[in-house]
Amino acid sequence: MLRIDVLTLFPRMLDGFLAESILGKGIAAQHLAVSVHDLRAWSTDKHRTADDRPFGGGAGMVLKPEPVFAAIEQLQSPGCCRIYLTPDGTPLSPTLAHDFSKQQHLIFLSGHYEGIDQRIRDGVIDQEVSIGDYVLTNGTLAAAVVIDALARFIPGVLGEEKSLTHESFTNKLLDFPQYTRPAEFRGMSVPEILLSGNHAEIEKWRHARQVEKTRLVRPDLLK
Ligand code: SAM
Repeated sequence: MLRIDVLTLFPRMLDGFLAESILGKGIAAQHLAVSVHDLRAWSTDKHRTADDRPFGGGAGMVLKPEPVFAAIEQLQSPGCCRIYLTPDGTPLSPTLAHDFSKQQHLIFLSGHYEGIDQRIRDGVIDQEVSIGDYVLTNGTLAAAVVIDALARFIPGVLGEEKSLTHESFTNKLLDFPQYTRPAEFRGMSVPEILLSGNHAEIEKWRHARQVEKTRLVRPDLLK
């Protein structure tokens, strides 16, 4: 079973995320185990300080090295992968999520405000991951995004394994449009072909829609 530890100053942000839906069921079925830790548990002063002002000046606060080193050194196991969520990291991709899903133990570190002391990145981080070209206020939701993306690759987490093969980015294409009942709604009809029962033609239609959508929205994927 994949073990995941998340280090954050805002552990309650993940309460609902870990309890609900497919991820909640995956954890209940012991396909993965996720523990969320408050970094302040490793701060040593009476105010439970985990951050401080940046050397050299500037706005905001920076996570201090002492509590983070102590937390990671206590939680890590041989061969585990220690990941810092950061906008200047490697962009998250299906391949990266799949690689993470094959690991035994992952530790995610979330920064906040201005980020974290560089010595943490140099000393106790193996990989840096970004969830996109925008800046969040802290990395807790970014950790949730990576966990959600990797969990889908753990056998058993998705009820129907085949749902993995028909998703955006498989074969570098975005997904095709989906419809359900009723066949007619407010004058809008489901495309005739989907009601035909002709599976070969439906596959062809879906593939054409995938190419069309990808060309329109993400032409870079087709290159
Ligand atoms: N000063 C940092 C910079 O410009 O790269 C941004 C710090 S950001 C305001 C605070 C924290 O949010 C970061 O330490 C990181 O953990 C998290 N974060 C923000 N955007 C992120 C993204 N796109 N991907 C992953 N983590 C992100």
